[in-house]
Amino acid sequence: FAINMDQLQLDEELGKGNYGTVKKVLHKPTNVAMAMKEIRLELEDAKLNAIIMELDVLHRAVAPEIVEFYGAFFIESCVYYCREYMDAGSLDKLQPVGVPEDVLARIATRMVKGLKFLKDDLNIIHRDVKPTNVLLNRKGEVKLCDFGISGELDKSLAKTNIGCQSYMAPERIKGESQNNLGTYTVSSDTYSNVFAQLTAIVHGDPPELPEERYSETARDWVSLCLRKDPEKRATYRELLSHPFLVKDRDSDVDMVGWVQKALDYKATASILATKAHLPQSV
Ligand code: ADP
Repeated sequence: FAINMDQLQLDEELGKGNYGTVKKVLHKPTNVAMAMKEIRLELEDAKLNAIIMELDVLHRAVAPEIVEFYGAFFIESCVYYCREYMDAGSLDKLQPVGVPEDVLARIATRMVKGLKFLKDDLNIIHRDVKPTNVLLNRKGEVKLCDFGISGELDKSLAKTNIGCQSYMAPERIKGESQNNLGTYTVSSDTYSNVFAQLTAIVHGDPPELPEERYSETARDWVSLCLRKDPEKRATYRELLSHPFLVKDRDSDVDMVGWVQKALDYKATASILATKAHLPQSV
């Protein structure tokens, strides 16, 4: 079905990204809560239409590790994009509570499976893997969103913003990551799984998981994702068959409990931050 603005009841703002605002909305005909992303693009209608058509591919991106796409439309110079509402938000806002190794393994498994599905089934390379694009819900599910599907959209966004560079693979920063078909190679997505600063990515040693908190197996897995030479970086298949993720298959990890703890921690942190800004006498 095609979604339009008249069917939506607008609720609270969920966050702001590089390109626009995300709001919670209710799709009245189906009573489904959705997240609606507004992207302002100064483009003529034909181009906006082309973007909407390209986004249609997303209807085929159905997998447990991918945020469901409901539809997109444009009004004036804004593209509105509706997707599954994930009630625990993005990973960046949950990780301050700390990520125990079993939770890390589960998140890593979901991400690699999601990326592999996009590549194998739809021939899509994500190109923007970072914590704000990993969404979670209170059921403990972990899903990816915001992958590059629309050439037109990417082109228009590239003009307004060069995006978040801290998660980019070194060969992308240096501009060597396009293969002879002019597309990014899949190993660039594997790198993005763990962060680093821009210059450090190109010139420094890859970051490592802290020795005090993570096992040798976890640290080895991360190092395989962060090999600077894309040729030497592990493939999705290799990452999934590594002991770190093999162990996760039978692990009974309490994702629901961790998500709840992370949300409680986030709520407490925000109360403390508000108090800190109040005058002393209050
Ligand atoms: P970015 O451009 O940084 O990737 P987005 O514009 O996609 O960010 O989203 C901004 C913020 O809105 C996210 O960091 C997340 O907290 C929230 N958000 C985005 N999509 C959803 C969703 N489907 N469900 C719940 N929250 C979301």
